[in-house]
Amino acid sequence: MPFPTLQTWFAKTPSVAPPRKDRSEIRVGIPRVLNVWSTHQFWVGFLRDLGIGHENIVFSSDTSEEQGRDFGKGRGTVDCCYPVKSISGHYGELIFGQKKKIDILLSPMIYSMPSVLRGHVMDTLTCTRVMAGPDNIKAGFLKERDIFAENGIVYTAPFVCLGDREAVAAQLHGTMKDILDLSPDETERAVKAGYHALDTMDAKLRQRSREILTWCARENKPCIFVVARPYHMDPGIGHEIEGDLQAQGFPVLWMQYFPTDPDLLNWLFEEDLREKRIKSPFDISDVWSSSYSSNTNEIMWGAKVAARCPWTTCVLRLSSYECGMDQPTYTPTQRIVEATGTLFFKFGDLDSTKPAGSVKIRVETITHYMSKYSQDIIARKKAMLSPNCPLLA
Ligand code: SF4
Repeated sequence: MPFPTLQTWFAKTPSVAPPRKDRSEIRVGIPRVLNVWSTHQFWVGFLRDLGIGHENIVFSSDTSEEQGRDFGKGRGTVDCCYPVKSISGHYGELIFGQKKKIDILLSPMIYSMPSVLRGHVMDTLTCTRVMAGPDNIKAGFLKERDIFAENGIVYTAPFVCLGDREAVAAQLHGTMKDILDLSPDETERAVKAGYHALDTMDAKLRQRSREILTWCARENKPCIFVVARPYHMDPGIGHEIEGDLQAQGFPVLWMQYFPTDPDLLNWLFEEDLREKRIKSPFDISDVWSSSYSSNTNEIMWGAKVAARCPWTTCVLRLSSYECGMDQPTYTPTQRIVEATGTLFFKFGDLDSTKPAGSVKIRVETITHYMSKYSQDIIARKKAMLSPNCPLLA
């Protein structure tokens, strides 16, 4: 039998962690597109933990027509929805539009999303156009010659299942180990830091939403509930329609950051749970059986929440031009929302140009309907719930 002393000794974790590699001068550019809108804190936390300086993590600006014209023109490879098409402008801005050049262009191919609905739905996958988007757009920068290499930039598009936390470290290490000289241990630690940053931001925003709802409940005031995909927060994609309504004095909540506290959700879904129509407040099987797509699932869940919450008297539904994923959700979301008399307004087929005239008219219409009917809607929806509202406890 071998004497175990040496094995035991060498298996010990060193008491002092190896010194961190100096990556403080590396500049990383990330296109501010698609699901980066809801996962950016993961990427910031991940890169910061690897030693990349805060000032060296560069996001492209919001989408705009000028950005597409100046940096993306002629680089389109696929004719598809605007949120994907617009990525060319973001890549171009990161390559050609920086005062201080970036070294790495990081454009993650996100396969699945972290979601509050995970475990209650079939899966939390991203849209196939989202998954393939980075490689489609990259082709437009390689078709004549390698624009990345020409500008001294390393392009990386790690395939990553952000919905599966255990898989992420190996995926990122596999793709980025040579680019950033990563060890498996430090990748794992950085992934943990990334999730910590993401979870912290999500919790903070949900808490803020709860404060807004509490104010609405105390003052008996209405608010607007936005049902949309994360990138509709981009002023160049969603066109700040919710901002125009906020300027009329209505608070705005985004479904992505609705509070998920058990006291509130159990109150809103009390009857559904008692009648066993659903197993949990996050269960959407009563309205959507093919629950594979993360953002689509959340849209259906958001419609259910908005229909039940008394103070969300109006739902603003945003979707983009040529969105195949949204087509089947239009009728169900409208039916769910309107079933409780909640107002529903859809801005579909949003493209590069803000339809300013029609938005102005519709904002006036929404303001009129909200001002006239909100108090009735609040009273009717409150009557459907138990009087023990946790927001007023
Ligand atoms: S969800 Fe729709 S708009 Fe978004 S990337 Fe997919 S097809 Fe395009």
